[in-house]
Amino acid sequence: MNRDRYGEVIEPEPEATPAEKAMAIVNCGLCDDNGYRGVVVCDHVDRSDVARRGLEKCWKILNRKKTP
Ligand SMILES: [Zn+2]
Repeated sequence: MNRDRYGEVIEPEPEATPAEKAMAIVNCGLCDDNGYRGVVVCDHVDRSDVARRGLEKCWKILNRKKTP
């Protein structure tokens, strides 16, 4: 077990195993087999819902300005 200079146990960072990473890529559907979304490394988080809600907010503000 690793200890730092104060004698406290250093907890190893929980890191995804290659198998877990592969499963994340398979389950993702946003990226290709290598985990890339276009030229960007995919974090396997679908943000399209967040983006759409942000867009709706923009449209609401724009439409409000148009109406007298
Ligand atoms: Zn992905």
